[in-house]
Amino acid sequence: MASVPRDLVLVSTPIGYLGSGRGGGVELTLASLTQGLLARGHRLTLVAPEGSSLPAGCDGVALHTVAGGDQPSWQHADADGPVLIPADAVLPRLWERALALGEKADAVLNFSYDWLPLWLTPRVQPRIFHLISMGSVARVMDQLVADLARWDQRRLAFHTHRQAADFSLPAAAQVVGNGFDLSRYQFQLEAGGALGWAGRVAPEKGLEDAVAVAAALQEPLQVWGVVEDPAYAARVERAVPPGTIVWRGFLPTAELQKQLGRCRALINTPKWNEAYGNVVVEALACGVPVVAYDRGGPGELLQNGVTGWLVSPDDRDALLAATRQVDAIDRQACRRWVEAHASQAVFAERVEQWLDLTLAAGDGSISRCP
Ligand code: UDP
Repeated sequence: MASVPRDLVLVSTPIGYLGSGRGGGVELTLASLTQGLLARGHRLTLVAPEGSSLPAGCDGVALHTVAGGDQPSWQHADADGPVLIPADAVLPRLWERALALGEKADAVLNFSYDWLPLWLTPRVQPRIFHLISMGSVARVMDQLVADLARWDQRRLAFHTHRQAADFSLPAAAQVVGNGFDLSRYQFQLEAGGALGWAGRVAPEKGLEDAVAVAAALQEPLQVWGVVEDPAYAARVERAVPPGTIVWRGFLPTAELQKQLGRCRALINTPKWNEAYGNVVVEALACGVPVVAYDRGGPGELLQNGVTGWLVSPDDRDALLAATRQVDAIDRQACRRWVEAHASQAVFAERVEQWLDLTLAAGDGSISRCP
């Protein structure tokens, strides 16, 4: 239980309603943190796009849904591109509601990677905190994160050190990792299954490299996730013999973990500085070793030779060689790492400690910068 139960307003991503999969890993992060903070006795309000429903196990959370169109994702923005907020976008409406609710709350916790909430933070009375969900993607966002960090870095937390290193920060980054409801991931000892890949099917995820490994081994690759970029998916498929990719679609966690858990390895091929890499940890939770590029979150989370293999980024030959050696990895060690470092409870406690750095006065008022 928390030493001080707080009133917290959580603000979801403006890309897709909760449950759509369009929000990527943020959806699962939000669900697991909501459950974890509830279990610690906090009182929660969730603001999310229309169509969202409360994640399982979150009864007691006040849900406010807001209508409006999706925000264009920063993942696919030009590095020098502008801030875009389309007409009828849900983003400003989410923040209008969050700020109103935040007046009476101890803090507002933002999960969206967007210009507006960051810009608002030093200019409004509600205390807004940001769990930054991506690394550097555009200069305008980098600048804003740096400006906010100079104003009060305690308002920012990151998933991994590698992600945080993308930003110009005056002090050491607050790194909170991520967390998963491990009761939903069944450990599977059986090691002889197929090769798997999971994630949004989009260029920054590098599916083509995992597919090349499967093709070289003359075996199929099971692929789970939202096809965000159909033209890219078609290009990847055309480059390998028919039948190499087995499209499994976007599955709810219960089904995903069942299928994923049967794999002998997950191949993870980020082409960008992945902030964390939920699917890596979900695979480990099922006992599935991960073969990944040593880049971004996966490179920080995996223990080379213990929970999988890390290879030089973009080196397909090394990826292939490592995939041939997954039998050397103890599946129990994979699950053990997740239990120790990435459970929902551990994550919620880390987030609570981060918020406490600023809210430590205990009366909801902001404490002074050290
Ligand atoms: N996912 C899912 N069903 C699927 C495939 C993926 O629910 O069939 C979820 C997965 O649980 C993970 C998210 O999609 O939470 C992908 O998150 P990740 O951090 O790997 O990448 P992001 O999309 O955030 O860049």
